[in-house]
Amino acid sequence: MLLSQQKPLEEILRFLDGEKNIFILGCNGCAEASGTGGKPQVLEMKEALEKAGKKVTGFSVVDLLCQKALVQSRFRGKAKEVKAADSILAMTCGVGVQAVAAVSNKVTHPACNTLPLGGMRGEWQGSERCQECGDCVLDLTGGICPLTACSKSLLNGACGGTTKEGKCEVDQEMECGWRLIYERLEKLGQLEKLRQIYEPKDHSKMMPPKGLRLSERWALEQGK
Ligand code: SF4
Ligand code: SF4
Repeated sequence: MLLSQQKPLEEILRFLDGEKNIFILGCNGCAEASGTGGKPQVLEMKEALEKAGKKVTGFSVVDLLCQKALVQSRFRGKAKEVKAADSILAMTCGVGVQAVAAVSNKVTHPACNTLPLGGMRGEWQGSERCQECGDCVLDLTGGICPLTACSKSLLNGACGGTTKEGKCEVDQEMECGWRLIYERLEKLGQLEKLRQIYEPKDHSKMMPPKGLRLSERWALEQGK
């Protein structure tokens, strides 16, 4: 289980600035349970985007957006609507957004922040990982998480140690995450996004929310 919280609409509209046609994806897994990406939230988002002057070319709610095969199979049935969109808005956790970005070949925006749960989570089969940082930055990195794809969790580009083969200096069996981000942004025609400087992460957002820490479920998790 990954807990997500919808980003403020103003932030989402900022991501969509300059784009007119949007395809919305929801998730019937953790995002539905979090109340951030089930069908009701997708329909609310559709209405909000249309009010803001966007055209929603289509929408879909996939059982688990973190499963790339499921996402691909849904895209097949919605090929026209997806093709007509400038970008995809994924209403789900950081893993789901990364999975959609990996298979869509489209600019993919995160509609949610993934919140830390302090240990309560399931497992998924894909290679995408989310550190539940509470303030998702995937919009600026082509849908690849710099916190998990880079060994040093760097936010402002590669460390300078990338090998000639494009591997990570920390573990040469790993691709350099920032090389992958560069290549993805280049493919999407969004290299200008690399010019934006990230402020240091607010680590207080990486703590489980206070409401959760006081819950019965949390107490059970802690063996109390
Ligand atoms: S930036 Fe990375 S760690 Fe933070 S919510 Fe997004 S996917 Fe998760
Ligand atoms: S080589 Fe790349 S992935 Fe490894 S720490 Fe440096 S920037 Fe991060």
